[in-house]
Amino acid sequence: MVAQFNSIAVVEQDLQDHLFGSDRVTPPLDLRRGLGFLQGGRCFYCKGELTGTAEADHFVPRSRCNVDAIENLVMADRSCNNDKRDILAGPELIRTWAERNRVEGANLVRIANNSRWDTDATVTLAVARSIYRNLPGRDTPFWLGRGKVDSATPALAVGALQIWIDGFR
Ligand SMILES: [Zn+2]
Repeated sequence: MVAQFNSIAVVEQDLQDHLFGSDRVTPPLDLRRGLGFLQGGRCFYCKGELTGTAEADHFVPRSRCNVDAIENLVMADRSCNNDKRDILAGPELIRTWAERNRVEGANLVRIANNSRWDTDATVTLAVARSIYRNLPGRDTPFWLGRGKVDSATPALAVGALQIWIDGFR
């Protein structure tokens, strides 16, 4: 019966992903708390204070990459998370994210292990690079912050990822 419930749960999750997009994955509370702590209790995007309704956001939208590893997660308040949806973050945010992942790499692994969650810096970085490198043209719309979508040069975003790549050397 348990197996039956589990398979129903899997089907329901697939259906949800199909209907609402696949950004709806809720990591455990420990992981969300740990990430929030690394961010000083502030929203990754607007730096507003995180409250009980804070959500774990896939920095590179899950609908584009399917990477759930902790390196791809940041804590955001609901308004930033809803506003960003599946839009790719712009160069400045990439820089902040790359810096977070470089500086907090060991802490991210520890938090993920404590929460039995995936951690994979190499794959997260490779996927992010590949997505940003393969964007068409110069004028790609990026999410720059709540209420701000504007075009920027993808190469700037690829350049911003370099901070994290340098950390691997
Ligand atoms: Zn925010």
